[in-house]
Amino acid sequence: ARPSPFFHTAPTATADSLAILHLTRDNLLPIKLQTTADDGYAEGAVTNTRFGSFPHSTLIGLEWGSQVRASKVDTGTRGRKGKNAKKQEAAEDNGVAEQSNRKRKSDEQPEDTPASPTKKFKSSNGEKANGGKIDTARPPIEAGSGFIHILPPTPEAWTASLDHRTQVVYTPDYSYILQRLRARPGSAVIEAGAGSGSFTHAAARAVFNGYPGDSSKLSKRQSQGKVYSYEFHEPRVQTLRDEIRDHALEGIVELTHRDVCNEGFILQDNTPPSVDAIFLDLPAPWQALKHLSRSTPNSPLNPHSAVHLCTFSPCIEQVMATVSALRKAGWTEINMIEVQHKRIDVRRERVGLKEEGLRGVNASAASVDEAIGRLREVETKLSDFNASRAVTNSANREEITTNTSGQKHPSKQERLDRIKREAEERKLYKEGNLVHRTVPEVKTHTSYLVFAVLPRDWNEDDEKRCGEQYPVDDIMRGTPK
Ligand code: SAM
Repeated sequence: ARPSPFFHTAPTATADSLAILHLTRDNLLPIKLQTTADDGYAEGAVTNTRFGSFPHSTLIGLEWGSQVRASKVDTGTRGRKGKNAKKQEAAEDNGVAEQSNRKRKSDEQPEDTPASPTKKFKSSNGEKANGGKIDTARPPIEAGSGFIHILPPTPEAWTASLDHRTQVVYTPDYSYILQRLRARPGSAVIEAGAGSGSFTHAAARAVFNGYPGDSSKLSKRQSQGKVYSYEFHEPRVQTLRDEIRDHALEGIVELTHRDVCNEGFILQDNTPPSVDAIFLDLPAPWQALKHLSRSTPNSPLNPHSAVHLCTFSPCIEQVMATVSALRKAGWTEINMIEVQHKRIDVRRERVGLKEEGLRGVNASAASVDEAIGRLREVETKLSDFNASRAVTNSANREEITTNTSGQKHPSKQERLDRIKREAEERKLYKEGNLVHRTVPEVKTHTSYLVFAVLPRDWNEDDEKRCGEQYPVDDIMRGTPK
């Protein structure tokens, strides 16, 4: 079986593999790197973005994380324009500069990226050019073109770039959920509904036990690590099935087309799975709970372990209905969590010497009083600066130990130390005060997470088996064997 690119990443981007193009922090684009596709360009397959065109021949062979500059693509060799170029033109006519990027949340090139990228780069004939520097023999980059980074597929990058068919579970939530569910290599997990497959990919990585798709040597179904995924919306099932196949996750993810609230968790082959963890991202998770008991026929719960459950609901009324159903069904350790993810913007706020200070004042003062206050502050700093320059000059002159009133002057060394100290302070001041703010556009409420545990059943037989192993009666009599 083919290894999944999500688990076995080659050190470089290879042909026919999945790659994630990082355009900006909030704008990632998954592509399949191709050598054979003919997009109508002389270069073969080309991905067009608002930061320019990227022939796949310039991406294949790059180390993951490389920064790549856009190329000028040749559209004229066949006397017609490539289909991507035509689409892009049509998109531009509509005021949209990019044809292939679905999200387009943030339109700027990342601020934190250097203005003149000098990272590894391949020339179009497939050779690494200039020992990883920019290939100066390349045609000049067109105005408006820029650069991107090429990233390997990971569940995080997939979540940020996938085609949303539904609301999805994001990384801050699923990383917390998976650790609370104790999902680990070899675990068997149910997820319903599968939706856009965001949680599916993260769960698959969590349970993957290191076997590169060859499960034939493993006897137990759950020991290979398994995600049993259910979805009742046919087109979503089809799209996710295609993605699971493309991402070589068939050995780990078993997707079943089923309404879990009405039909339960039976698999395609009419057998139940046997799981230790369950994640329900459904509008009415309490309706599925009747199928998640140990006594129900075809119970999907592993009889030999406690089962951890999480439901994901946006409204508190859904939480109340779920908690009530969980209590009645004998679940324990029921509690609710909300993950409040905040992006924190940390930067230096510049209020430096005169000119910069004035700019700082204009840019960031909230009121006139504050602006005047800051202006005074800047002027004080400026006069301190001038005073310290005077001290520097005097330090260079002949040393005078007392002034006219007989007070002791600081020694030359003391004055130099002071100047150095002040220079340091000035430097920090010029860099600005370190401030941080939460970025307001990040929505903090995603959903409420309800967690619960169903202990393993314990019957006479279990007690007998255990008694043979651990002779409790003997222990109580104080005569262990
Ligand atoms: N967790 C998914 C992700 O991260 O991409 C998103 C799930 S989406 C919010 C909810 C999905 O549950 C929808 O795709 C919907 O079709 C499916 N669904 C709703 N009720 C269902 C049911 N009774 N059985 C199976 N799937 C159901």
